[in-house]
Amino acid sequence: MTEKILVIGEARDGELRNVSFEAIAAAKKINADGEIVGVICGNEDLKSQAQEMIYYGVDRVVTIQHDNLETYTSEGYGQALLTVINEESPDGIVMGHTSAGKDLSPKLATKLETGLISDAVALESDGDKVQFTRPIYSGKAFEKKIITSGLTFVTIRPNNIPALERDESRSGDISSKDVDVTDIRTVIKDVIRKASEGVDLSEANVIVAGGRGVKSADGFKPLYELAEVLGGAVGASRGACDADYCDYSLQIGQTGKVVTPDLYIAVGISGAIQHLAGMSNSKVIVAINKDAESNIFNVADYGIVGDLFEVIPLLIEEIKKI
Ligand code: FAD
Repeated sequence: MTEKILVIGEARDGELRNVSFEAIAAAKKINADGEIVGVICGNEDLKSQAQEMIYYGVDRVVTIQHDNLETYTSEGYGQALLTVINEESPDGIVMGHTSAGKDLSPKLATKLETGLISDAVALESDGDKVQFTRPIYSGKAFEKKIITSGLTFVTIRPNNIPALERDESRSGDISSKDVDVTDIRTVIKDVIRKASEGVDLSEANVIVAGGRGVKSADGFKPLYELAEVLGGAVGASRGACDADYCDYSLQIGQTGKVVTPDLYIAVGISGAIQHLAGMSNSKVIVAINKDAESNIFNVADYGIVGDLFEVIPLLIEEIKKI
């Protein structure tokens, strides 16, 4: 395929999310010899983010700057991106399977009257057809799909398709596009964020997740300490969130976040099917549970049967020695 693929970059707090770089790598795999064009929306100058997209492999970038694009809305971003998509008429579109990606991609696909492969975790190209792999039935099975007509429109799950090496010697054109995004019904007036510490859960390489076995909000303190020494983030089961030990923004599972870190440490989590739906594709799973019969050990690569309040301090001590 020697055509044109558009990669929709997603910025947060002035920086592109890692999944945008992973989307570039996916676009390169789809379209090894063709043109890769980045597109980014925002309300401020987007040159540095555009430059980063070039360092990670796109050939040129179109930026869309408008006051109404400060915060994501499907209407505003939809209008802005649709204008660029129609002008560029790409053969494919790749974006992250993030909250915004999940919201925006079906809307764009509908407007473009094309299909969509969502939540791809892998892709293989034979130079002619591209085959995408995506989880189904809450991660219990995978299906492989190819696109036979229309655009190659795909969202990719964060942390599955490695980004290319950042290369500062790469150069490319950055152009800005004026798009009128004033005709929208929803304007975000204010965003009130929960205080979140450290690494973003959905893009973390290491996650230490606590369950009801952690027993209290205070019981989460050793988990935060372990996450810190490992440079990771803290997550939780719904059991822990329901018990008010932590905020629902940490919930992992079928009705929470879906994560695929390199290392997932499940602490005091029984391994209910709804929890496994959000983490069972992690590369290495370690379970710490005092019940040797707990279901979490059925998906764990390494298991420690013991009291988490004894095991975690020992782990922290040993890791600090490295
Ligand atoms: P429990 O099942 O109570 O397990 C606690 C574990 O801690 C036990 O295995 C116990 O042996 C261990 N333990 C206790 N003390 C210690 C100790 N001192 N040291 C070591 N181990 C200890 N759940 C999710 O997580 N995510 C979801 O998105 C989600 N979505 C759901 C959607 C629906 C529609 C429904 C019906 C349920 C959903 N659930 C979800 C809930 C799910 O079914 C389980 O109830 C929940 O995951 C249990 O949480 P838990 O493993 O922390 O608690």
